[in-house]
Amino acid sequence: MPVPLFDPTSPRAPLRADLRAAVHRVLDGGAFVLGPEVEAFETEFAAYLGAGHAIGVANGTEAITIALRALGVGPGDEVVVPSFTFWASAEAIPPTGAVPVFCDVDPDTMCVTAETVKAALTPKTKAVIVVHLFGNVAPVAEIEALGVPVVEDAAQAAGSTIATADGVRRPGALGTIATFSFYPSKNLGAFGDGGAITCADAALADRVRTLRFHGSEDKVDYVDIGYNSRLDELQAAILRVQLPQLDAWAAARVAAGDRYAAALDGIVTLPRATAGARPAWHLYVIRHAEADRLAAALTDAGIGARPYYRTPVHEQPPMRQWAPSYALPGTAEAARTHLAIPMSAALTAAQTDEVSTAVRSALAAA
Ligand SMILES: *Cc1c(COP(=O)(O)O)cnc(C)c1O
Repeated sequence: MPVPLFDPTSPRAPLRADLRAAVHRVLDGGAFVLGPEVEAFETEFAAYLGAGHAIGVANGTEAITIALRALGVGPGDEVVVPSFTFWASAEAIPPTGAVPVFCDVDPDTMCVTAETVKAALTPKTKAVIVVHLFGNVAPVAEIEALGVPVVEDAAQAAGSTIATADGVRRPGALGTIATFSFYPSKNLGAFGDGGAITCADAALADRVRTLRFHGSEDKVDYVDIGYNSRLDELQAAILRVQLPQLDAWAAARVAAGDRYAAALDGIVTLPRATAGARPAWHLYVIRHAEADRLAAALTDAGIGARPYYRTPVHEQPPMRQWAPSYALPGTAEAARTHLAIPMSAALTAAQTDEVSTAVRSALAAA
């Protein structure tokens, strides 16, 4: 049986009636942008995360740009960002007028560390974008202890948790400000584009609300050059139906990851959770020296497998002008060897067994 790389449909199947009712509620309500559904979702999402405030925006990329602007990032500033991430983590920086400064990752966790961030800091550093890549949880507190505000790019980490000295906490409530994407394939996905910004500070939340609506606080006077970046009512209503399922979906991802780890330990390099983290694997990403040969063999066997970031962001042509003068060895290693294998909240034990067996036989056939 083929096993797809991800399956956004099956986990939502039991929610069909509730999703339909939510869509009808919006249709009957007659408010379509920034109305009661968005407001309710913002309250529910902030409560779920343990964040003070959540503000719905149009997508996860604009969420990062707006979060940076709300922190006061602008021309002349530098923003540290990992190079091993989705392109948008860095693409969101130049529109603020600031420039990206690329830092390395630990190839085992595929996340930044306090050391890799520290190496990229200069007197011009205004913020650090910390990506919770693949659902793993980067060490935000250690990085904020360096004295620079952290923007958590939590687009891939909805449902993940981390045990800290203050108890179990969630990405989105670890740093100064955080961003989410509700692109349909994310752990919490809408039926189109959507995003959110979360933070503890009320004044910062107010700046975000102003920026998302054209730089206006009252829709009459304009205090800033802002954005038209809003979450719509339909997406918010759809997200509200799914949010109560997020922890169960996360547990299913954790369990599937545990089955892979048990079956593939010693065969491939497994993704390592950061200290205290319980990653709700958005993607389950293994590493192997012959990742491309493995990907080809799995694809031939009907199993979804693909690298996501084979070329690091700083080596893509539009970013080369900001490429660091020093090497990023962890990035190079992760980029060369990583491979995503099937992961979803609906992945069964039979499926993870089938994938694991196919990985073993592909590598044994070398
Ligand atoms: C998806 C994603 C984004 C961008 O989100 P969009 O909603 O697609 O704009 C940013 N960063 C990371 C790490 C992502 O995975």
